[in-house]
Amino acid sequence: MAKIGINIATGSLQKEEIIVGIDLGTTNSLVAIIHPETKQPVALKEHNSSSLVPSVVHFDAVGNITVGEEAKKYLVTEPHNTIFSVKRLMGKSYNDIKDNASSFSYKVIDDSNQAMVKVQAGTKFYSPAELSSFILKELKQRAEHILKTPVNKAVITVPAYFNDAQRQATRDAGKLAGLDVLRIVNEPTAASLAYGLGLHKEDDKTIAVYDLGGGTFDISLLKISGGIFEVLSTNGDTYLGGDDIDHAIVKHWLQQAGVSEAALQENKKFAQGIRLQAEAAKIFLSENDNFEKLFNGDKLLISRQTFEKIIQPFVDKTLTCCANALKDAGLKKEAIDVVVMVGGSTRVPLIKESVGAFFGRPVNDSVNPDEVVALGAAIQADILAGNNKDVLLLDITPLSLGIETMGGLMDVLIPRNSKIPNKASRQYTTQKDGQSGMKISVYQGERDMVKDNRKLAAFNLTNIPSMPAGLAKVEVSFLINADGILVVKAKELRSGVEQSIEVKAQQDLTDAELEKMLLDSITNAKEDIATRALVEARTEGEQLLETTEKFIQKNTSHITKEELMQTAAAMQALQLSLTMDDKDLIHTKAEALNGISRPYAERIMDAAISIAMKGKAV
Ligand code: AMP
Repeated sequence: MAKIGINIATGSLQKEEIIVGIDLGTTNSLVAIIHPETKQPVALKEHNSSSLVPSVVHFDAVGNITVGEEAKKYLVTEPHNTIFSVKRLMGKSYNDIKDNASSFSYKVIDDSNQAMVKVQAGTKFYSPAELSSFILKELKQRAEHILKTPVNKAVITVPAYFNDAQRQATRDAGKLAGLDVLRIVNEPTAASLAYGLGLHKEDDKTIAVYDLGGGTFDISLLKISGGIFEVLSTNGDTYLGGDDIDHAIVKHWLQQAGVSEAALQENKKFAQGIRLQAEAAKIFLSENDNFEKLFNGDKLLISRQTFEKIIQPFVDKTLTCCANALKDAGLKKEAIDVVVMVGGSTRVPLIKESVGAFFGRPVNDSVNPDEVVALGAAIQADILAGNNKDVLLLDITPLSLGIETMGGLMDVLIPRNSKIPNKASRQYTTQKDGQSGMKISVYQGERDMVKDNRKLAAFNLTNIPSMPAGLAKVEVSFLINADGILVVKAKELRSGVEQSIEVKAQQDLTDAELEKMLLDSITNAKEDIATRALVEARTEGEQLLETTEKFIQKNTSHITKEELMQTAAAMQALQLSLTMDDKDLIHTKAEALNGISRPYAERIMDAAISIAMKGKAV
């Protein structure tokens, strides 16, 4: 099991290269390193500015991209082309986020419920990973500018509840930004490391990490023992944070002045202005008893006492989540040894006190709550660099392991640098009606197309009983034992038919070959991701054509002639776009087809539902 560093510029092995820690946040992101002299973690900042880079990306009319503070200015003036909170979209399909689609002021494309979401800015379509890569690129450049040295390697943090797809999207974002992502680390684990927890082998503790940021709340319960962090449970609310507190203050002021919220919405500039005043009041009240400010000729007033009364319901909500997390982990409050505070909103004294009272112990809040996760990521990076001998380094997989999926894409089941032993599984389905076999081809490598990776093995899962396309549930599982032997199993879950194969994962791969494979994956990241996006767009386009065709055949009598003609024309246009190498064109044509079929599809569905409901008491 190897762990090697490569210098992207020269392609040579390098041990001393700097590895940065990155907190890629919903609202803000930042980058940290271990200071070469003090050996302490520090967040990187330009002179006199904040270490926080707002996670906002703006696209102008001619394709220029700005990130951070600059981009944030466009949130009010150009909401369609200013992307915020992209972290909420990482690794998600439209189906996953449709209930919250209205919270985005930019266009989130809903051309297929199963496929990953895309965002439209101008005439272009971006995946969340691409959008996040712009933020990461900004952080990389910032670090290079401050450190005056190339930065090519990073540890990036994600919430503990992120699933495989979300973690993979984060890795992709790093790769697109030209970063070799050495490890994806859970945010609460990073925060604990920043407090020195888990840095010694004999540490054996149960930790609660309370993370209240600008827009999200997470509580994670962790157990550290023998240098290993285990997530016992997570809970939270993906739409609860400092923004809600600001909003509550605005509401209070409006009530005081007898102004309705609807009136506020009509004047966007005023709404934004008063919101900023509310945030300023909240921050001021963390250290003072009364806030008073003249705004637009009116006096805005709020006391700490009123403020605390207003936010009590939010605090209570977070404590309910804490209670649920304890319940899920099967723990009593007394079992928690340490409570760690993360996120800017935990600066509110009432929040610190309430959380401390809930867990029955004072909270740990000595590290800057905005920076604590990035600082922990830098510590993790330092451990990976081999600089902290005290921490147990587990054996890891040197290259990602996965299988071939539609269009020749590599679908990673066990990412590179994963601990060994390890297991992972994912479900796939059939593409054709009555399909009786499925070929499972196993690959090793970092490239997006399997043809660029190393093929390790292949086998056929046969005897799948006849059923319509998409109904079979084939679970492919990878199991790597402590010796690095990989067992791949495929099982159709409805019928129970299964097949497996044993592979030696690192088959005679030399360090030089390994190094070349890693280097290739980064130098080709841009083209690879573009190809992947094109293949995905084509597959989605083909699927849309197929489902539209089927739907029309089944429901012809309920569709007007005009609708049929328009649909046929849109299908033809989509078909034609599939022959061209332009993913944006395919998305545009798919969107157009959806726009035409959606009204009659909804009409037919509604009719079917009302027939089904007839005669039933509701
Ligand atoms: P984060 O997402 O962790 O960067 O947290 C950002 C949130 O913390 C925003 O809602 C800020 O308004 C809030 N915040 C920052 N400083 C303070 C403070 N002193 N008191 C209360 N909230 C704060």
